[in-house]
Amino acid sequence: MVLPPNVSEADFNAALNEFRLAVGESWVFTSDEDVALYRDSYSIYWGEPEERVASAAVAPTKVEEVQQVVRTANKYRIPLYPISTGRNLTYGGSAPTMRGSVVVDLKRMNRILNVDEKRGFALVEPGVSYFDLYNYVRERNLKVMIDVPDPGWGSPVGNSLDHGVGYTTAHYRDHFGSHCGMEVVTPEGDLVRTGMGALPNSETWQEYRYGAGPYIDGLFTQSNFGIVTKMGFWLMPMPESYLNGTITVPRYQDFEPLVEEVSYFEDLGLIGMPQYGSPVGGGFMGPPSPALAALMQNGWPTVDALENYVATQKRPAWSVELNFYGPEETVRANWQAAKRRFAKAIPGAAFQDGQLLAMPIPKEREAAQADKPRLGIPALEIFMMVARNPATNADPADGHADFFAYVPRKASAVWDASRVMYETYREMGAPPIHHPFFTPINYYSRCFIVATVVPTYRNAAKNARSRELFAKVMDRCAEHGWGCYRTSPAFQDRLMSKYSFNNNALLRFHQKIKDGIDPNGIISPGRYGIWPANMRGRRA
Ligand SMILES: Cc1cc2nc3c(=O)[nH]c(=O)nc-3n(C[C@H](O)[C@H](O)[C@H](O)COP(=O)(O)OP(=O)(O)OC[C@H]3O[C@@H](n4cnc5c(N)ncnc54)[C@H](O)[C@@H]3O)c2cc1C
Repeated sequence: MVLPPNVSEADFNAALNEFRLAVGESWVFTSDEDVALYRDSYSIYWGEPEERVASAAVAPTKVEEVQQVVRTANKYRIPLYPISTGRNLTYGGSAPTMRGSVVVDLKRMNRILNVDEKRGFALVEPGVSYFDLYNYVRERNLKVMIDVPDPGWGSPVGNSLDHGVGYTTAHYRDHFGSHCGMEVVTPEGDLVRTGMGALPNSETWQEYRYGAGPYIDGLFTQSNFGIVTKMGFWLMPMPESYLNGTITVPRYQDFEPLVEEVSYFEDLGLIGMPQYGSPVGGGFMGPPSPALAALMQNGWPTVDALENYVATQKRPAWSVELNFYGPEETVRANWQAAKRRFAKAIPGAAFQDGQLLAMPIPKEREAAQADKPRLGIPALEIFMMVARNPATNADPADGHADFFAYVPRKASAVWDASRVMYETYREMGAPPIHHPFFTPINYYSRCFIVATVVPTYRNAAKNARSRELFAKVMDRCAEHGWGCYRTSPAFQDRLMSKYSFNNNALLRFHQKIKDGIDPNGIISPGRYGIWPANMRGRRA
């Protein structure tokens, strides 16, 4: 068994006994077999001394039990690591930031406390998964739609606390942005409700998020300032219909007006997340096509060479799929308006009608839908992305560490970032995956993501190379002012060291809060670079 740092075995055992009194004998997990379930199966340190493994786990079922666990942890200085459903793959899984922490597994707190279809919100506990919430809504035929991330087994609470994202219109797919009100057990065991939840008898906890005084909800995301035990979320009214259509544009340089036009529709709230692609590039986020790879043999091609290449391919340079939600009359009209505007802005733009679906999708037709998250249907199909089937992939990875570089929402920024990543891969001797037609992701509507997905393995030598590559990408991107929005504990210190304006004023501010509200440093030490005073200076 791994022990928490600076805790004697006797104290640890005493704490475990108190945890058992708080939550019940069978809900404190200490056997190697049980604790191994909390390992991060995508860990980039798998099997190495630096792998973040828990010492034990405790699974409370109500708020008072969480408070009791926190009080005990303070008494014995036991570091805790709260998780909701613990599915944070690529960003740490359910493993703690600091080796030896006790995972507080909130999966048993899985009550859906309220779904109000007329006022459009839900109030849930941390263990409620997207599948749970979806089933609840469908079984009752409630006329609301939930915005889901790709893997449906995660939770609205855990996902949004790590700034997770989905696929529908901008203000729903920003999952933290669409939350309203939370309840938090503080590091000292007190209980706080934010916004209108602080006003006894208020009925607007899930409707007006600010209450009065400073708005503190953001402090509980990507941090270690408390354990969230309830959260409210705004829900989209179930649209009558969903319509999609694809626009293609002929030339390499058409990407610029394409982005500008898409942004017009995005910022009016008329579309879900646009899906960019390139018929002449390669697969989505995949390596360059063989023809493009041949063109790149001598490095990054000039714009003229790229325009010539597109012309020889006899296919459009770029595509974008737009998705509309709403009454049939308006989705049809918006698609019509898109055709008119794009045709005017980009000579040669072409349009392909997609499907018009009546919503909600009937249960018996759900399984056949290709793009379930866009329709608000939770799924797990995304896991085909990292195929482990040796028949289709000779050297399958065991997982991946994602670096999503946030760049300005403009063509030139995508091209710059793709080129920097391409050059970084070359410098590191890794086969480049980026190319001039690499397409951005638009999860957060006001900026683009240029992604890179670094493989992780159950092999120390391969992981060492992946770590080097990941760190180099992070360093190079930071030099250009491109940060990533989320990373696994293995890289959180490094990431936060990049957000260094004015001698790391932001991190220093975070640390001051930490010192004030968690004097014993028991909640998730080190998460996003915030170490308690007694561990400061430590670098993971
Ligand atoms: C192939 C693939 C595709 C993915 N696609 C997406 C996607 O489309 N969108 C997306 O957002 N993510 C995506 N992810 C990342 C991840 O799987 C999801 O974000 C997932 O929802 C996170 O797991 P969770 O909801 O169980 O959160 P958890 O693992 O429970 O929580 C995440 C972290 O938040 C903190 N935390 C959780 N609960 C609490 C609490 N109650 N109090 C205090 N702190 C807490 C903890 O530090 C925890 O480690 C993808 C991952 C993979 C591998």
